[in-house]
Amino acid sequence: TEPSPILRASGISVRYGLATAVATCSLEIARGSYVCLLGRNGAGKTSLVSALAGALPRDGRMWFDGHEVATSKSTWLARNGMLVIPEGRHLYPSLTVEDNLVLGAYAWTRSAREARRAPELEQVYDLFPRLAQRKRQLAGTMSGGEQQMVALGRALMGRPRLLMLDEPSLGLSEAMIEKTYEVLRDLRATGLSVLLVEESPHRALELCDVGIVMSSGSIIAERPTAELLAPGVLESYYLGTK
Ligand code: ATP
Repeated sequence: TEPSPILRASGISVRYGLATAVATCSLEIARGSYVCLLGRNGAGKTSLVSALAGALPRDGRMWFDGHEVATSKSTWLARNGMLVIPEGRHLYPSLTVEDNLVLGAYAWTRSAREARRAPELEQVYDLFPRLAQRKRQLAGTMSGGEQQMVALGRALMGRPRLLMLDEPSLGLSEAMIEKTYEVLRDLRATGLSVLLVEESPHRALELCDVGIVMSSGSIIAERPTAELLAPGVLESYYLGTK
């Protein structure tokens, strides 16, 4: 039998008052697979990811690692390896780089001593030597690209099994976008699963196995990325001619 997916969601809806931002969306993320979530501005991508992460109330059912998870269980999800890098990164600007990284370890420990001694810290510094050089600098004074490294590093400190990234390319230089994608490519070997939200899709499609397209709160396509990369296919979804 097939191993159960790391994430299964069925009939997920998110409402803001009377407005429905996500309408009965269902999806699965296979263990070790990379899935990108595409769609125009306002399609509902952020709302769906926030609801899956337990940060926003939702209707519908979801299972993480085979366990059914009630709505808004963000702490349980983080402790079990579902970590999110939200849009805008949400660092603590007045804490140092290292303190921001160490806070990431609180996903799996409540002990300050254990968090400070997490072996992941050296791994993050190996991955991003720039952060090792700047560990005592306040995160809020780092460049956008460096803050992105801190956000990625903090998530890796949390021992992710499913990492969800909401528009990690936003506002970054080409070089920094490339670095982010390079790190994600390398992390595949660890068995990580990824849900990647991007508005401009080509780089995400090159990285991922499956692409999900959202429009007006609904999932309108879920296809292998190779099919979505064929000329004209994605454009037809975006233009609504498919
Ligand atoms: P973006 O890339 O711009 O974040 P998105 O695809 O992630 O777009 P959402 O941010 O999830 O889309 O927004 C989906 C819909 O929900 C939009 O119509 C948006 O205006 C609405 N919406 C989002 N957040 C709120 C909120 N806090 N209150 C009311 N409506 C909201």
